[in-house]
Formats: sequence, C-alpha cells, structure tokens
Amino acid sequence: MARSPRLLLASIHDVSPRFESEVDRLLDLLGAHVGNRIALLVVPNHWGEAPILPGSPFAGRLRGWANGGAEIFLHGFYHRDASRHERASDRLRASLMTAGEGEFLGLGRREASARIAGGRRLIEDIVGRRIDGFVAPAWLYGEGALDALRQAEIPIAEDHFRVWSPANGRQLARGPVITWASRTRLRLASSLAAGGLLRRLPIEVLRVGVHPADVSESVLVQSIEKTLRVAIRSRRPARYSHLLAA
Ligand SMILES: [Zn+2]
Repeated sequence: MARSPRLLLASIHDVSPRFESEVDRLLDLLGAHVGNRIALLVVPNHWGEAPILPGSPFAGRLRGWANGGAEIFLHGFYHRDASRHERASDRLRASLMTAGEGEFLGLGRREASARIAGGRRLIEDIVGRRIDGFVAPAWLYGEGALDALRQAEIPIAEDHFRVWSPANGRQLARGPVITWASRTRLRLASSLAAGGLLRRLPIEVLRVGVHPADVSESVLVQSIEKTLRVAIRSRRPARYSHLLAA
C-alpha cells in the first residue's frame, strides 16, 4: 500500500471585521499555495469591540468564504484574557506567551461553555452549517475550557503541539505549529529562525498559522511565502477535517 502523503494544514487566526483587510491579504498569500484549503479562525467579538453582526457585509463575506471551501473554526469569543489567574504559573504563562490574549486559559467550565455555545450559534447561523472546530486564542486552554469542549462535542481542536478531537478524545496529529510573531524585534527574529527550521521538519502533518499582524512586516510575509513554497514541494495541502477521516 502506498504511504499516505505528508500534509500541510494552513490557518488564518483572528478573522474579525477589525482585521478584514489583513485577512484579505492573508487569504491571497496562503491561497496562492494551498487554494481554498484554509482554516479560518473566527473571533465573534474581538475585545468586545468588533462584533460580527448577522446580516452585515462581513457576515456575508464569512459565508462566502465558507461556501468557497474554507473551514470555519470558532476562535474564542472576545480573544482577550480578562480573567484573574489564581495560579502563579498560569499568570506567568498568560503574560509571557500571549500579552493577555489567552481568553480560555482562566475560564471555568460554565463560562467557557457559555462562550463556546454563543459563538458557535452566531457563526453557524451566519455560515449555514456546523463549525469545523475550535482553537483557543494563543492556543491556551485551561481545564474549564477542555471540559467545555468535550461536553460540546467539538470535532477538532489544536494547541501548539497537537491536534485532537474533544468529541472522542482521539489524537489526530502531533508536532508544533509554525507561527510568526511580530510584537517585538526579538520575537520576530526568533520566529524567523524557528520557521526556517520547522518548515523542513520530518513530521507527518505540518501546520502553519498566520495572524493579521504578520502582513505588517514584509520580512514576515517573505518568510511565510518561503515556508509554504518549501512545504508544498513534499506535502499535500489539506483540510483539518481530513484528519478525522484518516
Ligand atoms: Zn488569535
């Protein structure tokens, strides 16, 4: 039997009316390499300041992207981490890794469930079908979030190191996600170096996740381009839901 080809999964984080023009650029950037095999990570109301309103032009665009073949993931609700972390290690993790964007790190199960249900209803009404999965902002999940995802039987979730199915507990893929950070020069330099290493990793499923801020630095755009170019030489672009069928 032929070995199944290695896969490339591409995603755009923080899809929100706030970042509409950046998302357009990222769609062009990724689309040139992977076509419509792109996961859109949608934030229902970024920072409580950018609600996706049913019937709005942006809602229409979201539906259009979904109809065009993009996968639709719920990506938190507000994205911002407004909770006070009880454990010092969580506080440290939240501030070091996310600049306060780890919304689902400190939520209890009830609040996490309410936000997942609310966001899911909004997005499913707009796109006219079920969401494909959930990705927590900054890939950070607390226990409450993990419980809520299991209970909601979300088909697919991912963090920095793996993809899994909360619905049945199956691990779907392992290996780090390649991402770029532009917040500081040091982070920018380290993410460029990491991208160079990671894009050649001999892992089965390579994930590439891009953010709106990436398009503000041409050096990041070039690195993303190169990563995709190198990756598709030996990998087939795929959708996350492909992992469920494997
Ligand atoms: Zn995000």
